[in-house]
Amino acid sequence: MTSQRTRDRLIERLRGQGISDPKILDILRATPRHIFLDEALSHRAYEDSSLPIGFQQTLSQPYIVARMTELLLEKGPLERVLEVGTGSGYQTAILAQLVGRVFSVERIRPLQEKARARLRQLNLHNVHLRHADGGMGWAERGPFNGILSAAAPEVVPPELLEQLAVGGRLVIPIGKQGQQQHLYIYDRSAEGVEERCVEPVQFVPLVSGILA
Ligand code: SAH
Repeated sequence: MTSQRTRDRLIERLRGQGISDPKILDILRATPRHIFLDEALSHRAYEDSSLPIGFQQTLSQPYIVARMTELLLEKGPLERVLEVGTGSGYQTAILAQLVGRVFSVERIRPLQEKARARLRQLNLHNVHLRHADGGMGWAERGPFNGILSAAAPEVVPPELLEQLAVGGRLVIPIGKQGQQQHLYIYDRSAEGVEERCVEPVQFVPLVSGILA
């Protein structure tokens, strides 16, 4: 169930859905997704679906991880990336193999601790984790060349836009729970910030405050 053939089939499916960056596809193929799940669910790791990770949270669907990564890296390699919502750490692991350094914020402590162990297991040492409200960004470590949010606010948090470097891009789902959400891109230039709506999506909400 976690065989190379099953993983290859997932990569073919992603290609069919329009993911075309060979580097991203190679990293998705090589990164074990099953270690980011509890054992009872690991046999479903290479399905193209989101899966529960506890605390009413989900490991994002491979298509959406691939799509957001592709959008984030569209303009070239990135040095410093902020991720909001570490969750299982899977998206973090993909990013860590594609950018200089990943700064990832999670509000639920037990999820963060599990993610830390998995990232260490994969020998990914260019990742910095923080237990905090990621809606505020991580100002001390900014500005960032890229910001990716794995949780949806109802409106774009101004702190995230402020922590975007000139030339940087924010990729974020926006919308109310239970209503249609959309993936947005915000590009910062010397002149200001440009917004683009990409496609409909379904994400867990960005919740303020932290959970010990
Ligand atoms: N990319 C992750 C997605 C996890 S779901 C994965 O594939 O596993 C989204 C995560 O965002 C959850 O873990 C949730 O706890 C976290 N989250 C929600 N609001 C947050 C906030 N304000 N700050 C930090 N993390 C937040």
